[in-house]
Amino acid sequence: MADSVKRLAAKKIELSIESGAGTGSCVSDDEFRAGGAAVETSGDALYASSDVIVRLRQPTPESIAQLREGSALVSPLFPLQAQNAPLVRALAERKVTTIAVDMIPRTTVAQMMDVLSSQATIAGYYAVLMAAAALPKFFPMLMTAAGTIAPSRVLVLGAGVAGLQAIGTARRLGAVVEAFDVRRVVKEQVESLGARFVEVDSDEDAQTAGGYAKETSEAYKAKQAEAIARHVQKADVVISTALIPGQRAPILVTEDMVKSMRPGSVIVDLAAEQQGNCALTEPGKSVVAHGVNILGEFDLPSRVAIHASQMYARNMEKLLFHLCKDGALHLDLENEITRGCLITHAGDVVHPKVKERL
Ligand code: NAD
Repeated sequence: MADSVKRLAAKKIELSIESGAGTGSCVSDDEFRAGGAAVETSGDALYASSDVIVRLRQPTPESIAQLREGSALVSPLFPLQAQNAPLVRALAERKVTTIAVDMIPRTTVAQMMDVLSSQATIAGYYAVLMAAAALPKFFPMLMTAAGTIAPSRVLVLGAGVAGLQAIGTARRLGAVVEAFDVRRVVKEQVESLGARFVEVDSDEDAQTAGGYAKETSEAYKAKQAEAIARHVQKADVVISTALIPGQRAPILVTEDMVKSMRPGSVIVDLAAEQQGNCALTEPGKSVVAHGVNILGEFDLPSRVAIHASQMYARNMEKLLFHLCKDGALHLDLENEITRGCLITHAGDVVHPKVKERL
């Protein structure tokens, strides 16, 4: 992160940080100072003196009140979710320019700024470590004097960025891995990581032009549920990552499916922040239901804080390089990346899709 500070300084972007902001990721104030950043002890002073505020967490109503009129906020916002509409309105009323980092287009040119991908990579990796620690079994096959141990079976639901990382990590730990996604295009990627793709007997493909998943038909859902039920029953671990942008996460693992699993099995529900892919997930908590451990904790990237911060800092650095010219914010509204993530500006909600949903 101190390296990011240096690279920003080289582009005339002066950085101030809140004292202690790096503690969780083991970076001291002195390291930031050595990189060329100013360290402010008061959050109020930081908000008052900065033209652009970069946050890791969604803004709160209190932090919005601290923002100076005409300043810019770069932050996760999830502005298409109905519960965040009041935040969007408050930012527009405050006449703040808001860049939502979760709305950066998922294109090849924007890859280096893609916060959703960097944090999903970490979540997918850590979900497997959590599952391995909670499962009262080995992941790999072992041939020992005390007998042969069969490898654990891991089922990954949703093979996007987090899911593919989970597959790779579970394979490296020696598990037998299966994966399912409604986007058929990922079959090849799943197989290239050494996992088996679970097929649904249908021609339907739920990939949108933007590369995301969309809602499937009822007929497809019924066939999908049958296929998932068969594979959940055999799994020791289910890692679910299925999301549909702007909507509640689809329920893929029903209570009956949980009942069909062996006691001691583990479900890690990475969709818990969007209410979960398992009907019995309690968002933010870990619970045991029908003898199965269901882990629905939030914010897994913070458990790998050093690398999560390093990757977030690198994403922000690239985003600021994109948004700034000669050390100041310079918004090119013709640019696809800028247009995609600019939500409020000069007192208005300027993102058409967000405006439509308000
Ligand atoms: P995501 O977090 O929105 O969803 C996770 C996965 O869940 C997706 O693969 C989705 O297809 C799947 N899913 C949704 N509903 C499902 C259901 N009912 N059953 C099973 N699976 C379901 O997605 P993501 O991981 O952020 O990535 C989405 C897409 O964006 C992918 O195609 C990814 O390759 C693409 N992407 C492209 C770039 C780039 O080109 N630079 C960068 C990042 C992501």
